[in-house]
Amino acid sequence: MMSEAGAVKNKVERLTGVKGMNDLLPPDSAVVEWFEAKVRALMARYAYRNIRTPVVERTPLFVRGLGEVTDIVEKEMYCFEDRLNGDPLTLRPEATAGVVRAAIEHNMLYDGGKRLYYMGPMFRHERPQKGRYRQFDQIGAEALGFSGPDVDAELILMAAALWQEIGLQDVRLELNSLGQPPERQAHRQALISYFEGHSDLLDEDAKRRLYSNPLRILDTKNPQMQEMVAQAPKLLDYLGPVSLAHFEGLKAILDANKLAYTVNPRLVRGMDYYNLTVFEFITDQLGSQGTVCGGGRYDYLIEQVGGKPSPAVGWALGVDRVLELAKSGGLPDVAVGLDAYAIVTHAQAMPDVLRILEQLRAVGVRVQLNPAGAEAMASMKAQFKRADASGATYALIFGEDEMATNEVTVKPLRDSAQPQRRRPVAELLQWAASLQSNALMHT
Ligand code: ATP
Ligand code: MG
Repeated sequence: MMSEAGAVKNKVERLTGVKGMNDLLPPDSAVVEWFEAKVRALMARYAYRNIRTPVVERTPLFVRGLGEVTDIVEKEMYCFEDRLNGDPLTLRPEATAGVVRAAIEHNMLYDGGKRLYYMGPMFRHERPQKGRYRQFDQIGAEALGFSGPDVDAELILMAAALWQEIGLQDVRLELNSLGQPPERQAHRQALISYFEGHSDLLDEDAKRRLYSNPLRILDTKNPQMQEMVAQAPKLLDYLGPVSLAHFEGLKAILDANKLAYTVNPRLVRGMDYYNLTVFEFITDQLGSQGTVCGGGRYDYLIEQVGGKPSPAVGWALGVDRVLELAKSGGLPDVAVGLDAYAIVTHAQAMPDVLRILEQLRAVGVRVQLNPAGAEAMASMKAQFKRADASGATYALIFGEDEMATNEVTVKPLRDSAQPQRRRPVAELLQWAASLQSNALMHT
């Protein structure tokens, strides 16, 4: 048997994961869990409620929602046909369109606005590098049905509170207003004329977008174009009084909260759906993957996806980038702790041992079992070594002696001043309760 399996193993090619789609392993996964718990508590404080939409949506949702001439729709989406009925489907590259689709489909706005948040994987076919992956986790907040700058401000303050809470440093806020469609139209004409006057400086990407999406040219990362782009007509100069009042309203709330920002007139976002407020939280510490969170207002997306016109605003953060940056500020030790490690010296005791461990776990004790098997149970010494390595505070010794008298030995592993004690099993649960009152347990 063994040799046959071995022979087969040699022939089989080892399968690997997909490029740009990473496994998240312990202990790193504990950091993400810690962060997600922080986010959940934060969202609750701002009255945002969780929404979970599928990772697959119909392709037209993104093409219509995000805009045809965007990086995402042009070249980053994972599109495929449903094998059975040929439906064009796409792995979601972002979640706003899906949230909006769900809100319309379930008539969620019938009794007023909704504040929602999501967490989950997004998919974009990009060139993988640090901070840029093909599957990556985003956390996002969306406020649907609210038009005022107060909700824009609240969303931005909420993100800033999150940075504060996890000790994120060196992240700055940039703001801009993209105005309303007629204002953009006027600016667009001026922008096209300006770029036409500098066509010698435009790169291929810019030339391609000159008439389809000239605003995106402002967002170019090409150093040769920076100077020319910096002199381009500014959208802010084309805003009417209503749009300006919205922008001023937002800034007044941020000022009152002493949240620093800079107005970046060239800040545009990757999706076409934005209007009025746009913003990004940026760091210089992550190279060209410096945007940790971005968002803005998208008052026309809901009707574009077939819903009743309704204003909306939101942001999304990249979990990898936020945590990468948080690491440099020093993250707390979030390793999953262990209260006890169960040492078992003979396999016949297992039914009793597992019954007792279940009782301990039911009252919140975190306990790891040393599994049976000739090798595993061979020596007490080896088991103690494992107990020590596990990081547990106590070893629980279920020896032959102990089991005969229905007792367990509790041995402190970290505090040599504490004596080792043999206790009746019945007392063990009381001991567990004392563990809790000693605040040794973190649930
Ligand atoms: P970038 O300009 O870096 O490509 P983006 O404008 O495409 O970012 P958004 O679509 O606004 O990003 O997504 C919000 C956040 O999600 C980004 O600020 C970033 O933190 C994160 N993010 C976006 N794309 C990726 C990716 N491929 N891998 C990891 N994180 C990403
Ligand atoms: Mg991108």
